[in-house]
Amino acid sequence: MEISHIEHIGIAVKSLEATIPYYEKTLGLKCYSVEEVIDQKVKTAFFMVGQTKIELLEPTDPESPIAKFIEKRGEGIHHLAFATDGVQNALDKVAAQGVQLIDKAPRKGAEGLNIAFLHPKSTFGVLTEFCEKPQE
Ligand code: ZN
Repeated sequence: MEISHIEHIGIAVKSLEATIPYYEKTLGLKCYSVEEVIDQKVKTAFFMVGQTKIELLEPTDPESPIAKFIEKRGEGIHHLAFATDGVQNALDKVAAQGVQLIDKAPRKGAEGLNIAFLHPKSTFGVLTEFCEKPQE
């Protein structure tokens, strides 16, 4: 397993419409994609910052994990995503070292990436995601 860079930082927000102007007009970043991820019950907006992305996450349903996060902790940084060369490999490796997994196998995330989450109880409070571009 090799982590090459921080692929993105996920930020939970109540409203993309309210938040995007801060990133675009105030910070001068460009939103290049807005996408709904149906099975996560979120709408996402992406900004490129160097080789790392900011991923804004707006819940589309009160049952969305993002809605529950905002309810409990308010808007803010939700997760950290590392780009790895093989998500399944990476999961197996950290699991063997005692890390509790949320996803035992990779699934499809925004932008068609293969993604999987580690439980924040095992990662010192940071909800951690591994992701990779699917093989073409
Ligand atoms: Zn993510």
